[in-house]
Amino acid sequence: MAVSSFNPPIRTLMGPGPSDVHPRILEALSRPTIGHLDPQFVSMMDEVKTMLQYAFQTTNELTIPVSAPGSAGMETCFVNLVEPGDKVIVCQNGVFGGRMKENVERIGATAIMVQDDWGKAVDPEKVEDALKANPDAKVVAFVHAETSTGAQSDAKTLCELAHKYDCLTIVDAVTSLGGSELRVDDWGIDAIYSGTQKCLSCTPGISPVSFNDRAIEVIKNRKQKVQSWFMDLNLVMGYWGGNAKRAYHHTAPVNALYSFHEALVMLQNEGLENAWQRHYNNHLALRAGLEAMGINFVVDEADRLPQLNAVSIPEGVDDAEVRGKLLNEFNLEIGAGLGDLAGKVWRIGLMGHSSRAENILLCLSALEAVLGNSINSGVSLAAAQQQLTK
Ligand SMILES: *Cc1c(COP(=O)(O)O)cnc(C)c1O
Repeated sequence: MAVSSFNPPIRTLMGPGPSDVHPRILEALSRPTIGHLDPQFVSMMDEVKTMLQYAFQTTNELTIPVSAPGSAGMETCFVNLVEPGDKVIVCQNGVFGGRMKENVERIGATAIMVQDDWGKAVDPEKVEDALKANPDAKVVAFVHAETSTGAQSDAKTLCELAHKYDCLTIVDAVTSLGGSELRVDDWGIDAIYSGTQKCLSCTPGISPVSFNDRAIEVIKNRKQKVQSWFMDLNLVMGYWGGNAKRAYHHTAPVNALYSFHEALVMLQNEGLENAWQRHYNNHLALRAGLEAMGINFVVDEADRLPQLNAVSIPEGVDDAEVRGKLLNEFNLEIGAGLGDLAGKVWRIGLMGHSSRAENILLCLSALEAVLGNSINSGVSLAAAQQQLTK
């Protein structure tokens, strides 16, 4: 078989992730590989940690990138904090709460499910009812930014509730980190995980996590060994941790960490709050354009994620055909609906480097071209422009 290099097309990524990777970050990926215990690499790792603490707004010592995607960050939190027989309150309002349940059950623990409709935020009252009914619960787990629906939950309130009932919190911030307000220390988040490929505009495959002292105490006092050798933080701490000897644990994904370092430098230069504001402003512009077309948002205004816009597919429009045309004719990727929302919604991401004016205008004009008479045409670009120049 004759083989040749793979040359991907150049796409504009406006789905649920990965988002557009900034050229500076891609360039960093191709710098020369050095040893992962090389002193120069180790000092770069120290910088990654410091910049990550800034991104998470935490002083937690145990703030590290797990060498695997967001799902592995999720699993790292669960396998370390939850033991067989424990009870975990899992809030579900979309796909990712369901994955949390899987994690809990595979550990041999019990998941107490708090269900909210897809597209709604987690309801703190239901969480409090579950806490009252389960005084022996150990952890409350929830998704801050539900990428499957575009809804944002009130992490601060949920953490306060959990602590009132003496529970630890595990928070999924895969889509919120860098894209909307997130304050690990101020909000009292005990364990958190995220991803690099959403609002940090980095390549996929790394999962930043952070654990506070309360969580570390629980990990150090486990009755049983963590069943995953790779994710056992007692071992990983020797590699990444504070005064760690940097003993060999696994080979760090050296080049992927160069790119992550670059992404964090860019975030720091922009300023975290400026990044949050940029995501919000661009959401308003996309929204102005979509609403001018007559396309409606799925999530109530107060709970909408600026970085993930879930909108109803107009009546009589073929979902797959439209997304296919956007991809093939405009090199533009938008996301399909999942689960309960499959075939009913599109998920338009404005994450990280994808959250910029030119992408909004491309998306609106491509949608106009493809949707033809199914929408109000000829008005969306002006509506978005007007919002962008406010
Ligand atoms: C994308 C995502 C994940 C999973 O991250 P992967 O890097 O795909 O493993 C988990 N939770 C949420 C909310 C996500 O959006």
